[in-house]
Amino acid sequence: MDSSVYIVIFIVLSFELAIGAGKNWGYEKTDYGPGDWGKMAPLCSRQHQSPIDINISAAKTEKSYRGLVLNVEQNVGGAVTGSFINNGHVPTFHVNNKKGAVTLNGGPLGKILHILHQFHFHFGCNSSVGSEHRVDGKHFAAEMHLVFYNSLYESFQKAVSKHDGLAVVGVFLQVDGTFSEWMEKIAVSLKNIKRPNGIQYHLGDSIPLASLIPDLASVNAPYFTYKGSLTTPPCYESVQWIVLENPISVTESQLEIMRTLTSTDGNHLCNNFRPVKPLNGRKLFKGPGEKTYPGEFSRRLFLRTIKQH
Ligand SMILES: [Zn+2]
Repeated sequence: MDSSVYIVIFIVLSFELAIGAGKNWGYEKTDYGPGDWGKMAPLCSRQHQSPIDINISAAKTEKSYRGLVLNVEQNVGGAVTGSFINNGHVPTFHVNNKKGAVTLNGGPLGKILHILHQFHFHFGCNSSVGSEHRVDGKHFAAEMHLVFYNSLYESFQKAVSKHDGLAVVGVFLQVDGTFSEWMEKIAVSLKNIKRPNGIQYHLGDSIPLASLIPDLASVNAPYFTYKGSLTTPPCYESVQWIVLENPISVTESQLEIMRTLTSTDGNHLCNNFRPVKPLNGRKLFKGPGEKTYPGEFSRRLFLRTIKQH
């Protein structure tokens, strides 16, 4: 065999190994755990990564950031339809935007509409851990991520790697004795996607996001915001993070349902959070709202239709 044939074989093998490695990332040390993600996805080793530990006293209040505005095309209450799927890492709800898109603007996003693409959950194997972001070192039991893409781009796929491509809203979940019927609906739906076998569970109903997360549509919602990354490979640094300060409620039994899901390697899909990364000189801002406590949410919703713009 001439040497160029060896080189071609070597390149093909290396490429397949790289693809194979791409399939094996996870949260355990035994496969490509978070500390090794940079070996298969180099961007994961960069300086502006997420999540971070939110140091409240270091967050600078930015008065020019107004409240968040959730917009709906057709359905009141920020209602979304779509399907749940277990991708082996996080249970995810893919939004069907054909039946009315939900968009977000305001806050650090200004007037630019960002279109909701999907939301998903990170959670602990017990409730003392689970969230990706921490607040003054403290974990919450889980964290919901609502992934929006910048409407200046044609699609999520086009936006995902761009520096201003995504806005992700992080919502902490805490066990505080309050029962959320919408969280129950989500938890019960997850029973249909226990394995990462590609099966989608189509939700017949819609989920009214403004009922599930009142602060998402409140001009008074306190939030933290900074520039960061996807918290999973390929770790694109394309995310304007908006982390709501007020958590929403979840029950232990709802979390128990989440913990019955399995990951790609067959283990329980829990503790699926990336450890916090350093700020490395980035600025952390705080929106203008003040923290309230569960049960004291402002229920005033500022919903309007895109057509009214
Ligand atoms: Zn996430």
